[in-house]
Amino acid sequence: MVSYSVEVSGSDPRTVTCGEDQRLLDAFLRSGVYLPNSCNQGTCGTCKVKVLSGSVDQPAPSETVVSADDQAAGHVLACQSTPTSDVRIEVPLDAGTGPRHVLRDLCGTVHEIRELADDTVALAVGIDEPLDFSAGQYIEFRVPGTGDVRQYSMANPPSRSDRLEFHIRRVAGGRATDGWIFDSLQHGHPIEMRGPWGDFVHDRDVDAPMILLAGGTGLAPLKSIALEALSADPEREIHLYHGVRHSRDLYDVDFWESVTRRHSGVRYVPCLSREDGADRRGYVGDALVEDFDSLRGHVAYLCGPPAMVDAGVRACKRRRMPGRNIHREKYTPAA
Ligand code: FAD
Repeated sequence: MVSYSVEVSGSDPRTVTCGEDQRLLDAFLRSGVYLPNSCNQGTCGTCKVKVLSGSVDQPAPSETVVSADDQAAGHVLACQSTPTSDVRIEVPLDAGTGPRHVLRDLCGTVHEIRELADDTVALAVGIDEPLDFSAGQYIEFRVPGTGDVRQYSMANPPSRSDRLEFHIRRVAGGRATDGWIFDSLQHGHPIEMRGPWGDFVHDRDVDAPMILLAGGTGLAPLKSIALEALSADPEREIHLYHGVRHSRDLYDVDFWESVTRRHSGVRYVPCLSREDGADRRGYVGDALVEDFDSLRGHVAYLCGPPAMVDAGVRACKRRRMPGRNIHREKYTPAA
């Protein structure tokens, strides 16, 4: 198979080998070399890099993800681009650093599928070898019989690395959920997976009070983050807001209530946007703004549908949380 060398230029140059059919991002992460990344499906733009020399193939990115000017200046998405020669690339200066767990293919076996709420299941998957990952990251599932992959976040903390837990919500007509997971997936079935992916990770060096804002199954990575934080510091101050539309969509309520009994620093606030009955009526961002005069000195992790995450970020900023303290993951649908 033909392969090329791909170099990230800059003060810390790094070179990896990339196959002609391999995406640049995949090659870097498989070599344990960090590149900024989030959705791995060409919709978020986090992995935008500039090609300085050489050439790549990629489907034309949407101009909302890579502007026409940036495309003309040689910017491409590392998650979508394959090399057609040796390549030198540049990553944005403010890209920072992130998890360096080696990306790999995984063979999973379904251990359990359990109904959590209306149209939501917990899926437990045993894997061939324990997986190194950071709390907050996700795995890609290959959808059988299609060329498609879909992303699902680990809900278990990294300390439990041989059995992964996922929270999955059915999307009507969805290829992965309606057409496979909720239709035919059963105990003992194999799942082809690849991971870990993503920059949305628990920063274990920061011990500030934590705000967790979840929409629907956006609760999954926040559970992983909260459990890791509490195992390091059982007194950690954590405010978890879980937003869903109706009470029938709420899940893990008993679990979180038991966490609040065992850990006096944890507050759990379920919010219903379309019905009365939980602690709060309305959206998680609005509940946060009502509860805090200032969020200076706090750190936030937000995950869920894009509109919920955007509103949550605005709420954090309204309460003067610095942007660098706000970590977010959007569950953008596949393009
Ligand atoms: P598709 O076949 O992709 O979609 C069918 C139709 O529904 C399309 O028209 C599509 O645009 C639309 N659609 C897709 N999703 C939605 C939606 N949410 N609301 C309304 N319309 C929609 N999901 C989880 O349940 N749990 C997770 O832990 C999780 N983690 C994710 C992590 C990341 C980084 C990302 C990017 C997404 C994550 N998702 C998660 C979403 C998941 O990857 C799939 O997009 C989702 O399960 C739908 O896939 P599908 O194949 O069933 O639907």
